[in-house]
Amino acid sequence: MINAPKGTKDLLPAESYKWQYIENTAREVAKNFGISEIRTPTFEHTEVFLRGVGEGTDIVNKEMYTFLDKGGRSITLKPEGTAGVARAFVENGLFNSALPVKLFYITQCFRYERPQAGRLREFHQFGIEFLGSKEANIDAEAIVFAKTFFDKLKVTGLSLYINSIGCKECRGKYEDALKSYLKANIDKLCPLCRERFDKNPLRILDCKNEDCKKITDNAPSIIDYICEDCSTHFEKVKKLLDLSGVEYKVNPKIVRGLDYYTKTVFEFVSENIGAQGTVCGGGRYDGLVEQLGGASVPGIGFALGIERLLLLMSSIGVEIPNDGKVKIYVAPMGEKEAEVAFTLVNGMRVKGIVAETDHMQRGIKAQFKYADKIGAEYVAVIGSSELAEGKVKVKKMADGSEETVAITDLVEYMLKA
Ligand code: ATP
Ligand code: MG
Repeated sequence: MINAPKGTKDLLPAESYKWQYIENTAREVAKNFGISEIRTPTFEHTEVFLRGVGEGTDIVNKEMYTFLDKGGRSITLKPEGTAGVARAFVENGLFNSALPVKLFYITQCFRYERPQAGRLREFHQFGIEFLGSKEANIDAEAIVFAKTFFDKLKVTGLSLYINSIGCKECRGKYEDALKSYLKANIDKLCPLCRERFDKNPLRILDCKNEDCKKITDNAPSIIDYICEDCSTHFEKVKKLLDLSGVEYKVNPKIVRGLDYYTKTVFEFVSENIGAQGTVCGGGRYDGLVEQLGGASVPGIGFALGIERLLLLMSSIGVEIPNDGKVKIYVAPMGEKEAEVAFTLVNGMRVKGIVAETDHMQRGIKAQFKYADKIGAEYVAVIGSSELAEGKVKVKKMADGSEETVAITDLVEYMLKA
């Protein structure tokens, strides 16, 4: 037997309806917010991620699936959605269309990580990118959109943390302050954070190592260092969240892993799914499009891990509707009856009724067993006397009640059932 590669998963019928439900809900809520779908390639030139995610990040340093194709080009399977969207935005001239451009994607992502609960090598993200507006109201809209999506799914218990990491100017001042605070304890930081100290000191705030956390607990807060423009922007975002009734906590330790973030950053975090608790993370990235060779176009977005969302939904017991369940199973008792059953179920399917019949030449008892196994709501039995009279007995499986229905009326009857 050949196994699936480590860190990948097959999506089987017992689970796939849940994915469809999440994806359908995502599309529906996106539509109401005027957000259109974008699909970008599964792989990009490696440079897209080097520039768009940034060297010095975990993704680029350790996690990318990079290889040379047969033409000798360096290719990378997308580890996240934003860089590819920004590349497509520039390449297709979307900046010439009416701004802001509001996009969503549902895509698989690939990261070479140590697989564990909520962490796979192939996983899936639902994300949005709003490009072209620098206004605080679009930051708030991105967050309200995420909240609306979670509410629609009846997902509760997520904490929303927001922060501002300022712009290029104020971040520099803060990084100096942070470094002079950390200097005294540099030996106590984990090896990775010692490396981050020079390259990307903000990321030290985000480290999961307990010793590092203790040290950064009393670090200066970035909120005290951001410039007036960034501060006004942040206050506006908060006000709009307040007006929308979206609860949040300002958490100066939320910095996000990617280099291109500016100003607003946020995370939706769950306590219910273990160490990998961040279900959704996002923020403003005013430098990204330029980084990928475009004009200076501001943007904001988030990405949400669908596997983690499902873990959370199952841990808090959210029921996921399965509309693919069989409504009626038609059980023929002979060959002639099977022909009637065959055309009958296809006729019902055309009318939108989920209908099934025998494909295994089973006896009537075994057919009832099968109907029960597939969760059929009703079973209609066609025997020779029923056939002669042009009628079927329709049994409701939940309570065993039976009604006789003319075969010609069955579609009408089931549409009402
Ligand atoms: P983490 O802190 O877990 O490493 P991250 O900062 O690398 O997350 P992002 O790059 O912001 O994550 O990706 C957005 C979301 O995608 C995460 O919040 C998470 O829900 C999901 N995600 C990221 N990496 C994985 C993975 N390897 N397996 C499953 N889901 C993932
Ligand atoms: Mg990660």
